[in-house]
Amino acid sequence: MDADHQRLIRQVRQRLEALTRAGLDRIPLGPLPEFPPVQAAQPLPQANRAEATEAPPIDRPEPQEARPTLPTTAQGPRRRPSPPNPKTAPAIPTMLGSLFDEPAIAEPVLPPEERPEALRVLAEEIAGCIRCEILCANRTNTVPGEGNATARLMFVGEGPGQTEDETGRPFVGKAGKLLDDMISKGMGLRREDVFIANIVKCRPPNNRDPEPEEVRNCIGYLERQIAIIRPEFLCLLGKPAAQTLLNTSMPMGRLRGKWQRYKGIPTIATWHPAYLLRNPSAKKDTWEDLQMLMKAMGIPIQKRGAGG
Ligand code: SF4
Repeated sequence: MDADHQRLIRQVRQRLEALTRAGLDRIPLGPLPEFPPVQAAQPLPQANRAEATEAPPIDRPEPQEARPTLPTTAQGPRRRPSPPNPKTAPAIPTMLGSLFDEPAIAEPVLPPEERPEALRVLAEEIAGCIRCEILCANRTNTVPGEGNATARLMFVGEGPGQTEDETGRPFVGKAGKLLDDMISKGMGLRREDVFIANIVKCRPPNNRDPEPEEVRNCIGYLERQIAIIRPEFLCLLGKPAAQTLLNTSMPMGRLRGKWQRYKGIPTIATWHPAYLLRNPSAKKDTWEDLQMLMKAMGIPIQKRGAGG
């Protein structure tokens, strides 16, 4: 191969590299566009070298939920809602930790009108579950959870107690009464505005904590409920729920009182209502936690307490 031939090959290779850098992934027909010659890199002044070796900050985008296909109406395709007005939208809480600690929910977003039925089908599946030998041998009812299938806020506790086991409904005993007060008297919401669930759906005997294996068996049901409901906020009640969903062994005293994220969802952990019944002085903490939620949700805060 003579020198002219080699020079020609070098020019073609340089031209192809320039095209690739310009974002072309195929060769256009016709004459190629002209690109400025590549400048040789100039040596940096000594003072700037350390700075140049640091990686630039990466502006990572917030994880996006898969967009649902919008149904078509008689008037044509339904329009997507406008983005929120930054002047009127509630303040976005400052989150601790990275937005990328955990992947966002991978399942597609269900249209709101399909969510109640999806939850009902899931509750039927839970009712037939026999994964935990001891729990299903002792249960009267499974307690899948209840509430608004399009709730902005979801409460997650530990597991059903005796009254919940007897009725098949979450948080209906003494602790449930206090949770009702937290929701209504504290936050000014109604119980039917929120969704209430637990990390295990069957009552552990003698109200013991669920075993790690039982939590592992059951947590998928809660994850599917969250994926169906798509709450904007989570409130985790008590240590087992907080440590499980936040994947940590930190004590409640360090988990509460600050924003966390579960799969991208802004999350607050606070004391379980049953703990508050035994330790009324901790209600002050829970009221502070609820106020953080209320601020983020745009709910006016008035002079009222979390259940007294
Ligand atoms: S606790 Fe959950 S996984 Fe275990 S038997 Fe009940 S529904 Fe099934």
